[in-house]
Amino acid sequence: MSKVAPSSIAEVVALIRDARHDQQPLWFMGSGSTETPSDHLTMSTEKLVGIVDYQPDDLIVVVRAGTTLAELDDTLEEHGQSAVLPETTPNRTVGGVVASGASGYRRHRYGPTSNRVIGATIVTGYGEVVHAGGQLVKNVTGFDLPRLVTGSYGSLGFIAEISLKLWPTPSAPRTVRVEDAGSARTRTYQPIAALETETGGLLYTSDPGASTLEGPVTEEFTWPDPIDERVVAAVNVPARLVAEAIARLGDSGATRFVAQHGVGVIDVGWADIDEAQIVELRAWTEAGGGSLVIHRRGPLSETLSKWGGAPASLDIQFRLKELFDSDRICNPGVLPGGV
Ligand SMILES: Cc1cc2nc3c(=O)[nH]c(=O)nc-3n(C[C@H](O)[C@H](O)[C@H](O)COP(=O)(O)OP(=O)(O)OC[C@H]3O[C@@H](n4cnc5c(N)ncnc54)[C@H](O)[C@@H]3O)c2cc1C
Repeated sequence: MSKVAPSSIAEVVALIRDARHDQQPLWFMGSGSTETPSDHLTMSTEKLVGIVDYQPDDLIVVVRAGTTLAELDDTLEEHGQSAVLPETTPNRTVGGVVASGASGYRRHRYGPTSNRVIGATIVTGYGEVVHAGGQLVKNVTGFDLPRLVTGSYGSLGFIAEISLKLWPTPSAPRTVRVEDAGSARTRTYQPIAALETETGGLLYTSDPGASTLEGPVTEEFTWPDPIDERVVAAVNVPARLVAEAIARLGDSGATRFVAQHGVGVIDVGWADIDEAQIVELRAWTEAGGGSLVIHRRGPLSETLSKWGGAPASLDIQFRLKELFDSDRICNPGVLPGGV
């Protein structure tokens, strides 16, 4: 399917209006790490890049959606600040990360990405430009649209610009190799992340006294390599079930995993896995109130849903879709339950 790459919000508006007129579904694309449906016209953010406004004293930045995480980090690092977005995928776009609600490993300390999205400019499925929130941390009345579009996967419209709240980067970053990251977390003051991986535990702190913990210390944050196996998924469970989830993933033959203690998100990769094992794992996570989301399906058949069971809020989500995009032009069917 063909691709268009608008370079201004006015061009986005025109393209969405044309698509609506032609009843042609659109698929929005950042760096393209998520698979594109073949019958949609792809609208890329590759020409909507760069920083619109950066006020280091206010700890706020406004960026265009196609800006990569690396480009944003480079600018913020000069001022010792960070937007605390995913750490290991520098080529991904801010728009793609916000649209998919992806958070990094530092979520334990700083909360999810949605906590930092304080403003957004979106173009709805009617081709209307909506500015919501802005450059104040506390300015929300009515719908909190910036939070609503975070994790909307483009189903409510195209995200053109995003305002992010920033954090100062820690002055004494430490990564400590530990036997058991779950237990080290509970013995550390304000840990930044506590990860369990297939090669052992890692505790991240900004405490210069971290050397009192048991393992070797590196005086920077060293994150696990991105998981790049044939099948990749995210297992989300209540934080208390992380240890049991790790055991189950081990039984399933997981080749790689990164489990976030205190958060409950486990990124997992398999060189090979049976569909029946995924179904069993998913049934276990859903019974505990969690989910298993397939990010790369490899040999798994298309009949296996990316998301698993539909959420209880499905009815509300369909009503929101109707409000923002009644003709289902923007990423139709992208969310669980076909929203
Ligand atoms: C191996 C692998 C592992 C992954 N692991 C995770 C994970 O652990 N957690 C996680 O959350 N995600 C994960 N993902 C999904 C995806 O990579 C992330 O969501 C990523 O941050 C998306 O960035 P991107 O720039 O590649 O966006 P894309 O992949 O291009 O887009 C992501 C989604 O957002 C939509 N979108 C993109 N830009 C816009 C925009 N400007 N306006 C509206 N909608 C837009 C797209 O249509 C798509 O639905 C994984 C993907 C892969 C391939």
